[in-house]
Amino acid sequence: MYSICLIACQTNTSKQDSSTTGYLKHQTVPDSDTENTLKLVYTGNMGVCLEYDDKTVIIDGLHEYYDKPYVYPPETMVNQLIKGEFKDFSKIEFCLFTHLHGDHFSGKYAKQYLESSDEAYVIGSSQLMKDVVTLHTKLDSMSSRFFPVPYNKKAHSFNATGIKIEAIQCDHTNPKRHNKTENIAYLVNLGGYNILHVGDTDWSLTREPVKTLDIKNKTLDIAILPYWLLLDDSDISQVNDLLAPKHIIATHIPPDFSKRDQKELRERFSNITLLMQLGEVHYFEK
Ligand SMILES: [Zn+2]
Repeated sequence: MYSICLIACQTNTSKQDSSTTGYLKHQTVPDSDTENTLKLVYTGNMGVCLEYDDKTVIIDGLHEYYDKPYVYPPETMVNQLIKGEFKDFSKIEFCLFTHLHGDHFSGKYAKQYLESSDEAYVIGSSQLMKDVVTLHTKLDSMSSRFFPVPYNKKAHSFNATGIKIEAIQCDHTNPKRHNKTENIAYLVNLGGYNILHVGDTDWSLTREPVKTLDIKNKTLDIAILPYWLLLDDSDISQVNDLLAPKHIIATHIPPDFSKRDQKELRERFSNITLLMQLGEVHYFEK
């Protein structure tokens, strides 16, 4: 049984020397000894399932067909993930969604996940809760395992054994069109690895939340970013000044992303992985 608590808190004041950042050891075939290794599997668009030991967190990973430029997981893969039967990934403790757009979130799958276990927890904006609620038949029993993130520019913490999650407002890209869409950024600590997932956003909208999360004074191991934050040479300083991650994971990549563009990203950032093949698995070690 997990003890879950929701605390609205101000900036974490613990300091760490950011000059100690280096590279993570990254492999696509694991060593025989995977102790201390962080695993990541790509579940389409910005979807990743992360696991350390038997602690598993999925972010934007349960979604359905939305439109042609978006990779999405087939139902069999979703069922395996929900049951903890996908490759060597175990059951998911937390399912996080950055926002309600269909290339990031499926109310149907969120409901299936909540129904799969009494120890399944979903975190996301309250907007997403409304969508899930409309699909719920047994809302009362499950809503206690659905944690809405207040959209108030403060960091909100969720803790369970071996997993620490901080969630914060990080507005959706193109506010003119999407100003009503609440987008949440997540900082997940899994087995001592700090992983940031920002959802659909832009650098200008990321600055404040990242400062509130005090990312620069924590050592960020992995930054999971939409690819459009990485397309220009000026983005190098944005990445370094705001996040300084040991490793970058580029996501939201359309299936027709050209070889030339892929090469350009790899040349611009030496510590980058482009997620393009559904189900591809990556192993990281400090
Ligand atoms: Zn979106």
